[in-house]
Amino acid sequence: MLKEKTVFVTGAAKGIGKAIAIAFAKEGSNIVLNYRSAVSDELIAEIESYGVKCFPIQGDVSDFEKAKEIVEKAIEIFGSIDVLVNNAGVTKDGLLMRMTEQDFDAVLNTNLKGSFNMIRHVINGMIKKRSGTIINISSIVGVIGNAGQVNYAASKAGIIGMTKSVAREVASRGITCNAIAPGFIETDMTAGLKEEIVKQMTAQIPMKKLGKAEDIAQTAVFLAKSQYITGQVIHVNGGMAMC
Ligand code: NAP
Repeated sequence: MLKEKTVFVTGAAKGIGKAIAIAFAKEGSNIVLNYRSAVSDELIAEIESYGVKCFPIQGDVSDFEKAKEIVEKAIEIFGSIDVLVNNAGVTKDGLLMRMTEQDFDAVLNTNLKGSFNMIRHVINGMIKKRSGTIINISSIVGVIGNAGQVNYAASKAGIIGMTKSVAREVASRGITCNAIAPGFIETDMTAGLKEEIVKQMTAQIPMKKLGKAEDIAQTAVFLAKSQYITGQVIHVNGGMAMC
C-alpha cells in the first residue's frame, strides 16, 4: 500500500524522524529526508538498502520560503508528495518567570509554524491529486502541560488544533491529517535529562519504561495505511496519560 509512495519527513537525520524514515522505507516508500544541520551517509545507505530512493534535502522548516523551496524540489524529483510527516522539533526549556521572548519564539517558529509552512506548501498538490496523508508530531505535553515547557507545550497544543482544523478543511478531498502525541521517548531530546528526572518520569509511566523512536514510527506507518482516521490525536505514551 505504501510501496513507491513519496514520504517527506522533516527533521529526519536522527531520533524519531530517522526511525519514521526507516519504517516507511521498509514499506517500500521513497523518502525525502529533510535535515537542518547534517545527515550521515550511513543513514542514506540504510534507507536505500530497502530498495527505495532517498533524497536528502537540507532546510530549516521554520523559514516559509525555504519550506516552499524544499517541497518544490521534492515534487520536481518524485512528481508528488503522498505523505508528509511534520517531525522537526526543538525544546528550549525554562520556567515561565525566566523564559525569554526569543526562547518562546524559537520553539513556536520551528514546532508550530514549521508544521504550518510544510502543510501550506504540500496541500495544493494533495488537493489536486485528491489524496494525501499528513501526520504531525505533537506531544503529551501539548495535552497535559509541563512545568518548564510553556513554549513547547503551547507549540504542541497548537499542532493539535491545527491538525483538527486541517482535517476538517481537506477531508472531502481524500486527505487525512492526524497527530501523534508521544510520551517520553528515548532520543537526544530526552538524553540530556538528569537521571533523577528520568527516574521520576519513568515512575509515572504505567508500563515503567521509556518508549522507543520505533514505537512512534510504527504509529506513523499505521496512520498512513488508515484511510478513515482523520482529525485524531494518537497517544503513544505507555499509559502515562489516558486521554
Ligand atoms: P531530536 O532527536 O532532537 O531530533 C529533532 C530533529 O529535528 C533533529 O534532527 C533536528 O535537526 C531537527 N530540527 C530541529 N529544528 C529544525 C528545523 N527548524 N528544520 C528542520 N529540522 C529541524 O528529537 P526527537 O526526540 O527525535 O523529536 C522528534 C519530534 O518528536 C519532535 O517534534 C519532538 O518535539 C517530538 N517529541 C519527542 C518526544 C521525546 O520524548 N523524545 C516526546 C514527544 C514529542 P538538527 O539536529 O540539525 O537541529
